[in-house]
Amino acid sequence: MSQELRPETLCVQAGWTPKKGEPRVLPIYQSTTFKYETSEQMAKLFDLEESGFFYTRLQNPTNEAVAAKIAALEGGVAAILTSSGQAASFYAVLNICEAGDHIVSSTSIYGGTYNLFAVTFPKMGIQVSFVDQEASEEEIKAAIRPNTKAIFAETVSNPTLCVLDIKKFADIAHSSGVPLIVDNTFTTPINCRPFEFGADIVTHSTTKYMDGHATAVGGVIVDSGNFDWEAHSDKFPGLTEPDPSYHGLAYTKAFGKGAYITKATVQLMRDLGSIQSPQNAFLLNLGLETLHLRVPRHCENAQKVAEFLQSQDDVAWINYPGLPGDKYYDLAQKQFRDGQSCGVVTFGIKGGRERAIKFMDSLKLAAIVTHVADSRTCVLHPASHTHRQLTDEQLIEAGVRPDLIRFSVGTEAAEDIIADLQQALEAIR
Ligand SMILES: *Cc1c(COP(=O)(O)O)cnc(C)c1O
Repeated sequence: MSQELRPETLCVQAGWTPKKGEPRVLPIYQSTTFKYETSEQMAKLFDLEESGFFYTRLQNPTNEAVAAKIAALEGGVAAILTSSGQAASFYAVLNICEAGDHIVSSTSIYGGTYNLFAVTFPKMGIQVSFVDQEASEEEIKAAIRPNTKAIFAETVSNPTLCVLDIKKFADIAHSSGVPLIVDNTFTTPINCRPFEFGADIVTHSTTKYMDGHATAVGGVIVDSGNFDWEAHSDKFPGLTEPDPSYHGLAYTKAFGKGAYITKATVQLMRDLGSIQSPQNAFLLNLGLETLHLRVPRHCENAQKVAEFLQSQDDVAWINYPGLPGDKYYDLAQKQFRDGQSCGVVTFGIKGGRERAIKFMDSLKLAAIVTHVADSRTCVLHPASHTHRQLTDEQLIEAGVRPDLIRFSVGTEAAEDIIADLQQALEAIR
């Protein structure tokens, strides 16, 4: 489907275009395998000489349709679904890095990604340098080494709500001959399309707004097709030089702009196997069909909640990029559609950790769950929950204050969410 269509239309229709007599709704291809008539036909698929489905670990029609929808929404050339957002971040990097390589990451990232980069990658021989994303171009460039293969950051960070200056990061990456990978989970392509600001690869935890209903854990990697791997073939031999596991095929030569996603599919998925189930891809697609309706509603409600919290004496501080006084207000206006970022608001309650916990326990409509970006309003205390494994020092380094409350505003009536906050604030007085 043409990328000229508007995001609202892509959310509803992209990816699945049935022909005469086929189901109007994307079917769940609940099949591990696909039938062929001759041995020769199957052999061509295994040699990547022809494209087609043969085994769901590599490709499945349901997954492919949903990946195509997300690629269209992001304005990319191709995408691959993964079993989780963590798998998406892992594969996005591993597709271009191996033992002995290095990446640069912003410190303002999701706790799970931080663990992957700070603890697990070094065990695999991939080193990661963390940089403050507010640092100057010179300071960030100083972290780049000859073996650096990518720069990684989040459009709007979970949970610290730092807004990335995507163009600044893209320029730094490109001047060093490496791609910029951006986790666009919080903004979704409804509010921001990082490729328009120079990012090369986008990842998502589809578990969040894309699914939107807290039904299925999932992830996706999207390639813009813009990074010129051949021009930097010394750094990316895995893409530009013959792959012995495919009789010496070279991805960039065989697949052009499709090289990165094809390699992730036929090599990483083949060998590591973190696929999304077709059932979950179907649920994700249902979520995507209303993404354009839900995201603006989340943001509208979050704006009202942020303004309410800002007016409360018990609230020590608040972050929301939609508040005119917020550090990231101008950048959000510049990069995001109508200046809208996401439905998540973070704040601190006067009196620190203990009072924060009492406040959370007093909420009735907002549930304490390990989740964000759900239709149902939910709340979490990262220092006690998601970031529990980090030391206080690491917490501060990641910009997560010990009193930080992450409040994920749902799509209910804003008045009811605010009334719940009000009664919880009264309960701790
Ligand atoms: C949740 C999240 C992830 C990890 O995704 P899972 O689907 O939970 O594996 C990665 N990045 C961001 C920004 C997230 O919010």
